Order: sequence, then structure tokens, then C-alpha cells
Amino acid sequence: MLPFKLVYHDKYDLNLGEHVFPSQKYRLIYEKLLADGIASREDFVRPNMASDDDILRVHTADWVGKLKTGTLSLSEKMKLEVPYSKKLVEAFWVAAGGTIAAAQTAMRHGFGCNIGGGFHHAYPGHGEGFCAIHDVAVSIRRLQHDGAIQKAMVVDTDVHQGNGTAAIFAKDESVFTLSIHQENNYPAHKPPSTIDLDLEDGVGDEEYLATLLPAVRRGLEKFQPDALFYVGGADPYREDQLGGLALTMEGLKERDGSVFREARRRNVPVVTTFAGGYARRVQDTIQIHVNTVLAAKDAATQFPGA
Ligand SMILES: [Zn+2]
Repeated sequence: MLPFKLVYHDKYDLNLGEHVFPSQKYRLIYEKLLADGIASREDFVRPNMASDDDILRVHTADWVGKLKTGTLSLSEKMKLEVPYSKKLVEAFWVAAGGTIAAAQTAMRHGFGCNIGGGFHHAYPGHGEGFCAIHDVAVSIRRLQHDGAIQKAMVVDTDVHQGNGTAAIFAKDESVFTLSIHQENNYPAHKPPSTIDLDLEDGVGDEEYLATLLPAVRRGLEKFQPDALFYVGGADPYREDQLGGLALTMEGLKERDGSVFREARRRNVPVVTTFAGGYARRVQDTIQIHVNTVLAAKDAATQFPGA
């Protein structure tokens, strides 16, 4: 048994077929966690779909209506970069429910891992870059609404800047946003996060960790968040097709574990989500995400309790 819960639903699959986004990855991660004996079935929680009230704390009624009725304009569909379908919309609502459930369990157990989510490019009124609904923001707003937390910190390690996160929380002092990403990459327009760590092309493990960890420490100490939401992109990997950084698999695991330990040694609950990963070999993307759960397990063992 893991000392925390994993949140997963079969409906996380975005059903994209042949697409650079391997949307079957959630099922493959779920299966590998079981096959490798890292988790057993009792470790998993099946989330409910987020309610429309939950979604509407972040997104505009106009955008929610368009998604539900399939009335996106051509340019809105093109920005989203994934084919619109009812199943796609359902997958985003379930993913948001998953990050809410992961956050709720994190408040009890110190960790909560959504085996999905991290759709950090979604804006209140439009979607882009494979992201229609910002599950992390929806979860933060729900926990704030319930009085479970006041202040949240988002640590986004996807190779692409967390533009949706930055835009949603731009004027909100209750949420501290940190994004470490490749500067010379999507999105072209990067609205400012609380802290943006812009990396040159080709940065490897050592420089990456030496840039990230002091910023995470300072953020935790100055801001004192009630929860840390981790967007654990697999795409800073050196074999990624959409990324231009050069982290190794070991470096990525060290990245996850180091952030988790910094939070847990200060008794801050950690909520993990996965975001992007476009390795040439899908198995590599799966392994990097599985390693995030292993890093959480190690940190939870070292710093038990909520
Ligand atoms: Zn990405």
C-alpha cells in the first residue's frame, strides 16, 4: 500500500488516435504502476467529474458553453490543437475532478497524485496547446472555496511555460506561480508568472536543478503556501520531440523528488499532475511519469504525515 492515494479514471484518455500527444498514456501509466508492483488497486481513487460550478470558478460561461455544445469557432479549434469531440470534453471535466480529488486527499495524507491533468495552457476564455480546462486552477479554486486552503503555490516544470496558469492568477496574491521552461519554445506569448525561470536551449540536469531548487525554496519560505501543486511535465527530457532541453531520466526523477522533499520537510501537502511528454519512445514518457509517483513515495516515506 502506498502512504497516499493515486487518482485515475479510464475516461482520462483524450481519444486522439494518431497524435503527437499520446493520450493513451494515462492508461499505460496506470497499468505500469500495477504491473511493476508500485501500487495496488486499493491505492487508486476514481474521481467524479468536476461540477460546472467548479469549472466556472475559473472559466467563462461563454467558453464552457462552447465546449458543451460543440460550437467552437474554427480559430478556437485550431488553437486547441486537438480534435474536438464530446469525449474530449468529458475527459477534461474528469481530469479536473481528478485534480480536485488529488488535492483533497493530499490535505489528509501529505500527497495526492492525479494520474493525469496538468493542462496548464488553458485560459479562462479559450483553450490552447492541447488544454481546454485548467484542472489545477479549478482544483485550487475549489479548495479555497471549501476553506481547505487559502494560499497555493504552483510549481510547473513542463518544458513549455505555464501561460494559462500565469494569466488566471495574474492579479491574485493568494496563488504563487513558478514556471521553469525553455524560453525559445511554445507559447510565443508568455504572460508573467510570479517567477519565470527561462532556460536556454540544451540545458541539462545540473544547471536545471541549480536553477529550480533555490527558487522553490525561496518561494516556499517567503510565501508559506497551504498546498503545493506540481505540474510535472515529462517533456524537458532530452529525447522529447517538442522540447529542446536535455534532462536525463535520472535528472527528471531528481527534479521531482527534490521539489517534493522541499515541500514535505516544511509540512506542505503536495498535489501532483502530469502535463506534457512527447518522447520518441512512448515508453520513456510513461517511465518518466511513473518515476514521479516513485519520487513521491520516497519523499512520503522520508517525511510522513500531512
Ligand atoms: Zn509541455
